[in-house]
Amino acid sequence: MILTSNLGFPRIGQHRELKTLLESYWKKEISAAKLNESTAALREKHWRQQKNAGISHIPSNDFSLYDHVLDCAFMAGVIPERYQQENLLDTYFAMARGHQKVTAMEMTKWFDTNYHYIVPELNAKTQFKLTSLKIITEFCEAKALGIMTRPVLLGPVSFLLLSKLRDNSNRWSLLPSLLEVYKEVLLKLENAGAEWVQIDEPFLVCDIDNFAKEAFKKTYSELSKTSSLKLLLATYFGSIKGNLEFIASLPINGLHVDLVRTPNQLDAIQTKLPKDMWISLGVIDGRNIWVTHLEKTLATLQDIIKSRGDKIMLAPSCSLLHVPVDLNLEKNLDKELLGWLSFANQKLDELSLLANALNGKKDTPAFEKNSAAVKLRSTSEKIHNKAVSQAISAVIPKMLKREKPFKERAIAQKSKFKLPLLPTTTIGSYPQTKEVREARAKFKKGEISVAQYEKFLEEKTLEVMHWQDEMGIDVPVHGEFERNDMVEYFGEQLDGFAFTEYGWVQSYGSRCVKPPIIYGDVSRPKAMTVRWSAYAQKQTTKPVKGMLTGPVTILQWSFVRDDQPRSLTCQQIALAIREEVSDLEKAGIRIIQIDEPALREGLPLKKSEWQEYLNWAVNAFLLSSCCVSNETQIHTHMCYSDFNDIIEQIAALDADVISIETSRSAMELLDVFAEFKYPNDIGPGIYDIHSPRVPTQVEIEALLEKALNVLSPSQLWVNPDCGLKTRSWEEVKPALMSMIAAAHSIRKKLESNINVVMA
Ligand code: GLN
Ligand code: ZN
Repeated sequence: MILTSNLGFPRIGQHRELKTLLESYWKKEISAAKLNESTAALREKHWRQQKNAGISHIPSNDFSLYDHVLDCAFMAGVIPERYQQENLLDTYFAMARGHQKVTAMEMTKWFDTNYHYIVPELNAKTQFKLTSLKIITEFCEAKALGIMTRPVLLGPVSFLLLSKLRDNSNRWSLLPSLLEVYKEVLLKLENAGAEWVQIDEPFLVCDIDNFAKEAFKKTYSELSKTSSLKLLLATYFGSIKGNLEFIASLPINGLHVDLVRTPNQLDAIQTKLPKDMWISLGVIDGRNIWVTHLEKTLATLQDIIKSRGDKIMLAPSCSLLHVPVDLNLEKNLDKELLGWLSFANQKLDELSLLANALNGKKDTPAFEKNSAAVKLRSTSEKIHNKAVSQAISAVIPKMLKREKPFKERAIAQKSKFKLPLLPTTTIGSYPQTKEVREARAKFKKGEISVAQYEKFLEEKTLEVMHWQDEMGIDVPVHGEFERNDMVEYFGEQLDGFAFTEYGWVQSYGSRCVKPPIIYGDVSRPKAMTVRWSAYAQKQTTKPVKGMLTGPVTILQWSFVRDDQPRSLTCQQIALAIREEVSDLEKAGIRIIQIDEPALREGLPLKKSEWQEYLNWAVNAFLLSSCCVSNETQIHTHMCYSDFNDIIEQIAALDADVISIETSRSAMELLDVFAEFKYPNDIGPGIYDIHSPRVPTQVEIEALLEKALNVLSPSQLWVNPDCGLKTRSWEEVKPALMSMIAAAHSIRKKLESNINVVMA
């Protein structure tokens, strides 16, 4: 009998119930007891949904009040002193979100997803101690409802690899004491009546060194001896082929593998894995929202079923945390498109259909319906646009290159713009105040007309243009008041994109995103931003910077079609952006910024695959930007990550100017410029817009001086480290005033030095 299993269910709730509950608790509108009672109801609902869908192994402890890595740290008592509160729940939230004067713990991306986890802080003296029994209480909670679950636990090796060693000590020396906590947990789960436990070790798909391999061996040899619980080791987001030898020798009872990302690992796994080990086959895409081709999937399973039919589970490729909950809520999507989509609940149904078919109870009408939808999708005119494929085949290398090299462009641009040394600019958005958000909401609800809405936006743009002129900002921006989100705004105007009403996915804690769906060939029916940039340009004699989101970022923050390579979809988006760049230039916008904050996060997990990705990602940026004359200045902007290891590819983007986030790390990034001579202009962000703190002129001057140690005065720009839309005007005004005053003061010093040299 083939079983079905799920690795994790979205926690947030179909209407983001968890978000509402958390935020009410944080605002002290509900008590801890109420929070627990309401989240228990949410867990119960999700367990029942999975049970009704016929899932044999239903997960528990996949729920979290904030993040599962933080849960794991909490379980093992890894709680930094500075977060201690009166009770554990508030300590937990203090770690996640900070309190009074203590900032939150560091947060970073979970592998190559858009989910963020809290980075545990360890040091040589860390003492692990079983502190939270959440995993046991949740198991018991489900059991009391009559639902047998498989508790999920982040594996100790991955936990250590995800942690930061504050004192740079050796993480593996902590393994033995961490294992003691895991053993205690396993024993308690066994006593509570659990049969299986799922231990997630996603690092098994990454490049790992021998120390990590040894840690895996030690861990599973000890954990397997601890109790009679069956251990299912879960891997996802890639292939384990490179680590298969030693994984096959681990004393575990089952192994989960991701066959959506890397179907070609199945043969190797099938031959190497001991016959008595369960295999959980991740055949339903847990990272994307497309319907599974059931017949095709069934066919790929025939061999393995024949050779080891009695120890197989079918599962999503990874936890369903990364997809929205329920497609049935979507009432406004195109009917045809609807038939091609599958969210968490639908994916569970797909699993059951597959398992039932393998167990001799094939639901033929459902399979036929599925085949028809898949066929329709592959031939639909909604997807295929001849003009787009023609434009793609007309792309030639020349289109990926500016006419002249940067040095010559810089001369042309200097004489065109006559900018001072250390020119000042901002990253694009100005505060999205309550007023702006309310106007947009009214417009969306039809309470105000297009004309009224646009008039309002013009007023806002006009105000900010005047203000920037008064302040003496050298390269002003229009403020992005018309944009809700930097990807959604473009997606809504491009063909090939669709938007859901309830397609929420957790980004971190209570924060969710609603990624657009790229279902078809992407094209641009008409200009998207020219109206606003041109309006802004009319208000000033300074060169206004036009503002676009780059192709890689649009791709990265969407659900992307899976019927063609991502690189091709990216190229299509790049062509659409390229048309916009040309139109901006024609409209007299001669400085254009193309934001690529997500360039770094698209990097594959395995280093051997980096180059291929970087090639097409860099080419997409070049394709979108290299259509302008030498005099037109292309900017790009990046944030959220550490760029040191891809600095050469960043230089290869050949943007005339790049602005880059650095201020939080006090310009740590500049170290890399000491070694790598970045050839073009650069604006290292000189104040942290993520914090409400207003920087002083003195502070900014010091940072600029620091930057001038490694960059030449002629290449340095002065700007904040990201867009200002999340800040208030009370913060933005004084901060930019300090920034401008600092730029003026350093500029004066530089100019008098130059005069001295000239005299
Ligand atoms: N231009 C965008 C803004 O200013 C850039 C946002 C980002 O980098 N995340 O808001
Ligand atoms: Zn940014």
